[in-house]
Amino acid sequence: MTDAQDPKLLWFSFLKTFTRALVQINLYKPDHPQVRQALDEGQALLGQIADSLGGGDLSVTIDNDKLLINGVPLVAADKLPNSLRNLYTKFRLQTITFKPGASGEDLLALCQVQAHKGEAKAFLAERGVEKIKLDEAVYAKVDSARTPGAASVVTPGQTGAAGQAASPQEKVAEKISGQSFESALATVVGRVTSDPEEQRRVIALLEAKFRDAVEAGVTRALEEVRREKKKVENDMARTESVMTSMADGVVVVDKDGKILMMNPQAEAISGKPLAELSGKKIVDLSQIENQVVSLAKEIKSENRADISKEIIKTGSAEIAETVKKATALIQNEDGKIVGSVSIPTDAVKLKQVEQLQQDFIANMTHELRSPLTSIKAALEIMGREAGAPTESARGILNTAIRNTERLNSIITDILDFSKLQSGKMVFHQEGAAAGDIVREAAEAMRAWTTSKGITLNVNVEPGVQHVYADKRRTVQVLINLVSNAIKFTPQGGTIEISADAGKEALSGFSFFSVKDTGCGIKKEDQGKIFEKFVQVASGEKVGGTGLGLSITKAMVVMQGGRITLESEPGKGSTFRVGMPVYKGQGDQQVFEQVPEVKEAPKPWWKKLLGM
Ligand code: ADP
Repeated sequence: MTDAQDPKLLWFSFLKTFTRALVQINLYKPDHPQVRQALDEGQALLGQIADSLGGGDLSVTIDNDKLLINGVPLVAADKLPNSLRNLYTKFRLQTITFKPGASGEDLLALCQVQAHKGEAKAFLAERGVEKIKLDEAVYAKVDSARTPGAASVVTPGQTGAAGQAASPQEKVAEKISGQSFESALATVVGRVTSDPEEQRRVIALLEAKFRDAVEAGVTRALEEVRREKKKVENDMARTESVMTSMADGVVVVDKDGKILMMNPQAEAISGKPLAELSGKKIVDLSQIENQVVSLAKEIKSENRADISKEIIKTGSAEIAETVKKATALIQNEDGKIVGSVSIPTDAVKLKQVEQLQQDFIANMTHELRSPLTSIKAALEIMGREAGAPTESARGILNTAIRNTERLNSIITDILDFSKLQSGKMVFHQEGAAAGDIVREAAEAMRAWTTSKGITLNVNVEPGVQHVYADKRRTVQVLINLVSNAIKFTPQGGTIEISADAGKEALSGFSFFSVKDTGCGIKKEDQGKIFEKFVQVASGEKVGGTGLGLSITKAMVVMQGGRITLESEPGKGSTFRVGMPVYKGQGDQQVFEQVPEVKEAPKPWWKKLLGM
């Protein structure tokens, strides 16, 4: 600032300080030390400038995209800080003139004008500012020696169009159609006035208006785009962080089952990165077939209930079961279902857990059974040896014995179920007389039917063929059916166990039937009762695990047989078991194809038992 040789340095220092004040007034109150400092500095610089000019004005002009100070073109306007440029643009200023003696308060008013909505000149006048003049009309004195031709916006090539009033014959539209924007503007303005100064002002005004309009439009459009981008980024970040922090593998698919996202756990399980699997159909991928197995079939449906019912399963049955339970639907913002998330299950881990569970059940039931057997034996000895126990003591003993028997049969069910599940139930099939099987089962159950006041009939059709079966297990099948019949038949009823060749005599089966006159089973329940843990309402509450019939069916089917039911509510039920006919030694080949528990790839009964 001490460099009196070059006044331009002073001018620039002043502009810098003034710009600082313009910015700070937006951040702080007018009495803030930062603001005060900038204004004081500005005032001091203006004083120095006035001195250097011998008491002359300082005019700062933005014109024709140039900054001119005291008529000397200095820099391109786009090199100026925005806040300074905006002041000119907003109020369509061309020149701000600082007169000698302009104070810091005057500068403050000029800074505050930025935020003003009305007229800038009026604002300054209200504040009593006299030493700063705003002008749109004042044309800076251009130093023609330095900028020849700068006094006119009209370029030499356009002189004819803009420098003089156009001949009325010339068509403006035709003329400007091939011109650049600037030339076209000059042409049009040239038609309006022939005064070059007036032309330039009009052009400057129009350009400023045009720029403002374009800027405002672009800002609006960008604002919208930025908001959308931010929203999408937020959504992505949220989804990604939720997925990444989940302990389970997660796969997101679209409505067509194509993979959209996978978290690192899912990538690890599938052994492939998302980049490789993205966009591929989940059901077409053999490498993840074992892990990702369920997709909602009616994914487009609005009805959630439908979706949970309809599931396409691929992969092994036990994994499908697990994943089905862990499948969640994904909705978009409109509440529409756009895909499903499945939790891929680590097949090895699942198998280990299942094995543990099966071992536990097998060990537990064994452990339970041993003390139970001794309790029952002890109770029976007590009953026999306790001299002449009273009537009520005998009643209590009998109840205790019956309860140990019930417990025992429940344990047997669980044990059998567990053996079937683990594939450890072995069948020794051989030729066995159907009549013997029927009679053995009847004898085992007779005491119970008698005590319940139920008649038990046995009926073996003469000539019924031997069956190829594990005799002990087949007797157990009939005992299970008869014990159900006893449970659901009232006193005075009848149960008939029979063996016959059946109408399908040529089909290679001999048939066992257990027919009762009990409560019967409703049509809609008849399909369900062979499933594990299913007990259907039958009026009277009876005990049981709901495993009996599923075990019975599995034991029949595993020996190559089949089981059917006919029942009418109120009238009774008939369970019919068909077992393969024994055809001598050579016959065994036929049944070698009967699925062995361990080798069976995926027989229906395994599914039935959830294996
Ligand atoms: P549980 O071991 O609990 O008896 P089951 O699998 O043997 O289970 O039987 C399933 C259901 O089938 C029973 O709860 C019962 O409702 C029905 N059911 C089975 N046998 C008969 C029958 N003979 N008469 C009527 N209902 C029966």
